[in-house]
Amino acid sequence: MGWNEGYRIMERQVVALYDLNVLSKDVLNAVMEPFKNTDIDSGGSEDLKAIDGLGVENIVCKVVKPQEYERILETTEACRDADGECKSCGGEGRDCLLFDLWSDIKKNEWRFW
Ligand SMILES: [Zn+2]
Repeated sequence: MGWNEGYRIMERQVVALYDLNVLSKDVLNAVMEPFKNTDIDSGGSEDLKAIDGLGVENIVCKVVKPQEYERILETTEACRDADGECKSCGGEGRDCLLFDLWSDIKKNEWRFW
């Protein structure tokens, strides 16, 4: 169990700033500052969606790595779990690729847990 409240605060801020159309990478870095090196835990997620339907993980990928994000949206690549029944993406691949990108970003940029 990590810091659920921390994730909840982060999610609300990121989605709100994205909806205001002011979420640059610099703004995102400032928002993430208090959460660096913490164990914020997605168990605290309220599954918020922006006006355009994106959740916080997709928003972060889109803002930090826009080209990779676009490439993943266009991919027809199968899931990395191609042999099995992937419960995350249903075998379509995109959701798992996005999750991998989100995991890389949060670890490398902000060292969440
Ligand atoms: Zn998958």
